[in-house]
Amino acid sequence: MKTIRTRIAPSPTGMMHLGTARTAIYCWAVARHFGGKFLLRIEDTDQVRSTKEATQVILDGMKWLNLDYDEGPIYQMDRLDRYREVVDQMLADGRAYYCYATPEELDQMREEQKAKGLKPRYDGRWRPENCVGKPIPEGVKPVIRFRNPDEGAVTWDDAVYGPITVSNSELDDLIIMRNGIPTYNFAVVVDDWDMEVSHVIRGADHINNTPRQINIYNALGAEVPVFAHLPLINGQDGQKLSKRHGTVSVLEYERQGYLPEAIFNYLARLGWGHGNMEKFSRDELAKVFELSDCSRAAARIDWKKLEWLNGQYMKEADNARLAELTRARIEARGGDVEHGPSLVDVCDLLKGRSATLEKLADSALFFYVKPEVNAEEAEKVLADGGREALKLFGEKLAAIDEMTPENVYEHCIKPVLEECGCPMKVLANPLRVCVCAADRTPQIDKTLCLFGKEEVLARIARAL
Ligand code: GLU
Repeated sequence: MKTIRTRIAPSPTGMMHLGTARTAIYCWAVARHFGGKFLLRIEDTDQVRSTKEATQVILDGMKWLNLDYDEGPIYQMDRLDRYREVVDQMLADGRAYYCYATPEELDQMREEQKAKGLKPRYDGRWRPENCVGKPIPEGVKPVIRFRNPDEGAVTWDDAVYGPITVSNSELDDLIIMRNGIPTYNFAVVVDDWDMEVSHVIRGADHINNTPRQINIYNALGAEVPVFAHLPLINGQDGQKLSKRHGTVSVLEYERQGYLPEAIFNYLARLGWGHGNMEKFSRDELAKVFELSDCSRAAARIDWKKLEWLNGQYMKEADNARLAELTRARIEARGGDVEHGPSLVDVCDLLKGRSATLEKLADSALFFYVKPEVNAEEAEKVLADGGREALKLFGEKLAAIDEMTPENVYEHCIKPVLEECGCPMKVLANPLRVCVCAADRTPQIDKTLCLFGKEEVLARIARAL
């Protein structure tokens, strides 16, 4: 069987969108499913809009999502000689020709077509047979156009949408090179041909380009790859995803404290399904992924589901890794991680109740800041038996040898409640408000153990 080769070919003209990330995931999954190769190609021929920063964002995004590619990054701007070589051959074969029409002239042509109720399209005025004897205008830099077939139709069997046919009468002679720089539709064909890409998987916004590209493949005598177009991703309201819907850039999710494996899982599931698989690893996806299981309907982002999924991944994430990912976030909030309890242990305690790293940092902060006890609240919780309970707790804590959650519960909490004859909250509230100085705490015995005996006793002494 032919080697399966896929590629993600982003243009470095802005942020890395969710749609691009999802396409990359599917390209990766197809390559891995068949033991093939996955390529990264940077389509940087748009000299005005391409930036180094945007390229870096793509590289960072791929890395963050752990989308390992086997070849690349390949930059189109490094391949200008090759495009020129192919164009020269096409000119020699009569598959392409120079066009000297000025932009004003083309505008006028389109206006006239519109006035006649026709669809605006290039009329082939510089096709060699149409300009015999016509003088070449001075000072006009020609572009090179592809000679599109006039007759017949283009058909392909889209791996997602099924058979699609477009008549050649709908297409015109598109520009393939301007000032020595290839246009997208041309460069993409030369590249996919040279790089032996077997499956072109991309957004449905490219469906209109595909028949044009197939005509170029045919003109080059190149084998036409499989095409698979993916429906767009919409916002929760079903409208096209835009900034208005919140985050659309992949790396922004990193900033917001999502785990890459959760984003990977969520995006993969968005527009593709296999039985009742909801939570799955990369390897599980690669094993079962089939393009034919992709949906033809636009996907809808569901932020709640994403957060839920992230929470699931948080729960099972390694504590040391979470600590590494959370440290700077706590420090940014003014926390002193260096001199507080072990962040690894704190993550272990909190990860089951934190949907994102940002939320984890929020709820871990009280371990790492000077306690700022809310005096009003403290007074309230110390009244009605709270003070006595806390005092007794301190005495019992001072008496135990080793501070473990079991010891704290068995030898401090339980006997205090018994001796004072009070419900848990009478002791727990002073511990939370006066000792932890937190709005909320995880399980109190474990929380106190992380502070350590000395610190807890000092805080109790201050509170009484
Ligand atoms: N450079 C194109 C884009 O960013 C991708 C084209 C393709 O995958 O064929 O939309």
